[in-house]
Amino acid sequence: MLRMLVNKGDPEAKYTDLDIIGKGGFGTVCTAVETATGEEVAIKKISLLQERINELCVKEIQVMRDNKNVNLVSYIDCYLVHEELWLVMEYMDGGSLHDVIRETRMAEGEIAVVSRECLQGLDFLHSHQVIHRDIKSHNILLRLDGSVKLADFGLAAQLTAEQSKRRSAVGTTYWMAPEIFTRKPYGPKVDIWSFGIVGIEMVEGAPPYLMKTSRTVGQLISTGGTPKLQNPRQQSPWLRDFLRCCLQTDEDRRWCAQELLQHPFVTSAKPTSSLTPLIVAAQQFMADRRY
Ligand code: ATP
Repeated sequence: MLRMLVNKGDPEAKYTDLDIIGKGGFGTVCTAVETATGEEVAIKKISLLQERINELCVKEIQVMRDNKNVNLVSYIDCYLVHEELWLVMEYMDGGSLHDVIRETRMAEGEIAVVSRECLQGLDFLHSHQVIHRDIKSHNILLRLDGSVKLADFGLAAQLTAEQSKRRSAVGTTYWMAPEIFTRKPYGPKVDIWSFGIVGIEMVEGAPPYLMKTSRTVGQLISTGGTPKLQNPRQQSPWLRDFLRCCLQTDEDRRWCAQELLQHPFVTSAKPTSSLTPLIVAAQQFMADRRY
């Protein structure tokens, strides 16, 4: 399957100046320059020695290739190089939302912009019957111009007329929706719950229950209701209401992406360019620490 998806050309001739920028669970990510155009790209190099990884790669490539949208990281090409898959994609020069959350304190206006952009990406995926299933700040990437895009589609699920719900427990514990822990069939709204947890990350710097074990987190999320903010009075009523709409434990009462895009907290958001100073500040803090 993977062999059918890949480009048969030689990426080592097409891309030069490879420079490692990060490591993930399955391999490394580099920046590179496309020789012919001078365009900077990101290349995720994934070692294919495990069978399960092949499946995740096929999923990631198919979802990225078939779902093009301004709020999803763009797929460019992919190659097999020895025992590695090289997934070439748009380079997000502003790093991840996780970096921004770790390095700065986000203002409500900035949280609103990120929310609108992520919900636009989710609305697009959900309207094409795709569930992302791993929404968290690490998988939301930024560009210095303020663009915000969803990334990392290895755990995504394509729903069909025959299979309009999923059951398998996948995702990252702290961001997983209650219906996943309780093993109920679930749909796209698991991504909305996860985005609500990203909302708490943006307000407080970390998801709820971070210091607890996975088992305890599962119990707390499945029985504890909507996670509470530590200092709710420090946030505006609009932001609190927005998070309440995302974090309804009952999937039927949880708002969908399209409804949340009409929420006053989101409609009041400024253009994406207003995020640039925040992204630059986060990068500066990280660079200062390196030297
Ligand atoms: P996991 O493998 O468990 O999903 P991860 O999300 O950290 O973990 P990767 O997706 O492999 O792993 O990403 C590794 C690093 O590269 C992260 O810091 C990520 O922000 C960065 N990165 C990934 N894709 C891009 C991209 N298109 N542009 C810029 N940076 C990227």
